[in-house]
Amino acid sequence: MSTQESQPSGRHAIVCGGSMAGLIAGGLLARHFERVTLVERDRIEEGPRQRKGVPQAQHLHGLLTRGMDILCDIYPGFREELKAAGARFLDMSAEHAWHMAGLWRPRLPSGVQFHAQSRPLLEWTVRKRLLALPNVRVVDGREVTGFQVSPDNARVTGVRLRVPGGGQEETLEGELVVDATGRGSRTSQWLEALGYPRVEETRIHVDLGYASRICRPPPGFEPGWGLMSIFPNMPQERRFGAIEQIEGGQWLVLLGGWHGEHPPMDDAGYLEFARSLRQPHLYECLQKAEPLGPISVYRFPHNQRRHFERMRRFPEGLAVVGDAFCSFNPLYGQGITTAALQVEVLGACLREGVEGVAQRYRRRAGKALEVPWLLATSGDLRFPEAEGRRPPGLGLLNWYSERFQRLAGHDEEALRTFVRVLHMLKPPAAMFAPRFILKVLTARPDAAALSRVPECPTSSSTSQAA
Ligand SMILES: Cc1cc2nc3c(=O)[nH]c(=O)nc-3n(C[C@H](O)[C@H](O)[C@H](O)COP(=O)(O)OP(=O)(O)OC[C@H]3O[C@@H](n4cnc5c(N)ncnc54)[C@H](O)[C@@H]3O)c2cc1C
Repeated sequence: MSTQESQPSGRHAIVCGGSMAGLIAGGLLARHFERVTLVERDRIEEGPRQRKGVPQAQHLHGLLTRGMDILCDIYPGFREELKAAGARFLDMSAEHAWHMAGLWRPRLPSGVQFHAQSRPLLEWTVRKRLLALPNVRVVDGREVTGFQVSPDNARVTGVRLRVPGGGQEETLEGELVVDATGRGSRTSQWLEALGYPRVEETRIHVDLGYASRICRPPPGFEPGWGLMSIFPNMPQERRFGAIEQIEGGQWLVLLGGWHGEHPPMDDAGYLEFARSLRQPHLYECLQKAEPLGPISVYRFPHNQRRHFERMRRFPEGLAVVGDAFCSFNPLYGQGITTAALQVEVLGACLREGVEGVAQRYRRRAGKALEVPWLLATSGDLRFPEAEGRRPPGLGLLNWYSERFQRLAGHDEEALRTFVRVLHMLKPPAAMFAPRFILKVLTARPDAAALSRVPECPTSSSTSQAA
């Protein structure tokens, strides 16, 4: 993506919401507009901090390589800055103790990085870059309450804003309004009130519960992995866990489960939940770790996709990005990368001019969601409780994908391909190359593959394949 625009094509753009999608969009828009104003409901404080508007920030937030690549296009040097701020960059398979489809993955270099850091650190590092842009202004402590529109309602011409909870409304005029207010976005309702058709929405129920805790690893413990994750055999099992090494040498421990299998918030219950995972390693690590704070929980009811691309009529001057457009089961770590993909699409549309950008963008952004949506929801639809239409061939796709994951447990090329698909560097079709189809149908894991266990503090774990 070329982000060096020689001449701004518009005068003023407004971004609503200053979380990851808004911060990425702001950087892009600063290249296309003379001025950008970002409006955020929370008061923004200096440094990496938790805040009310992003309750998910207490939980594990890995950044996929595709997302990092786009961030670096928009903010050159971002990768180095995040690393210098303390983030850990981990090879997705060599430094990841990864149990999936009944096997520990081989610890071979994949060349693909998983970027591990706390969410506040990630957001703050991006925000600093946005704030350094001379044509960007951040208005914090203001909530957007609706759109300003042209007399015929055909064009969004700005927003109304006020101090949260009351106060005098102000207006802000702009040629493009970008909604990055997250999953709770009110764009659908505001459009309907203006006489636009109701936005179709697809939901896939997951009833996911996350419970996270920051811990200090056992003294002197150098396990050779920076990320450990233990996935269940779906759909029979529903519980998962992960430990991510973040800045400051801390562990961010995550336990979770689908459809009511939610981890408890008390110490004993939390540990017991870890013990119930399919492999004992995470439990053994957690047992020896020192908790540094309380257990934070987050409930995620459903995947949610708003089909702005399908609307028969849609106003000019408006673009929706990030969770406001589509919000996924967070377990697959795709949210920020998908927001970045949408911003990339917005950039391509803006290069064709500001006029007509809303229509071009919503259609192409809707299309760009196809792959992330498929990656996130095909697994979730394996649970019988997941309401929602099953696309044709889903059973076959899931069958193949599980076999492919088992193949990736002992076949280097399959592993590297799988990692690239997960990080959105290759399309899922890459897993269907004829040589893989043959291997998937014939391969058996070798004995060596079954003896790769990650280190844990007690070194007593020998439990292996499912
Ligand atoms: C538990 C959990 C774990 C996750 N883990 C990952 C992960 O590992 N990797 C990953 O890539 N993604 C992950 N995600 C998804 C990720 O958090 C989001 O995709 C990402 O934050 C982008 O969201 P957003 O910026 O669109 O919206 P949000 O992050 O929800 O932010 C919306 C912003 O808009 C502001 N706002 C809301 N309404 C208004 C208004 N009316 N006026 C002004 N401002 C307003 C809010 O204060 C907030 O700052 C996870 C999500 C959850 C729930």
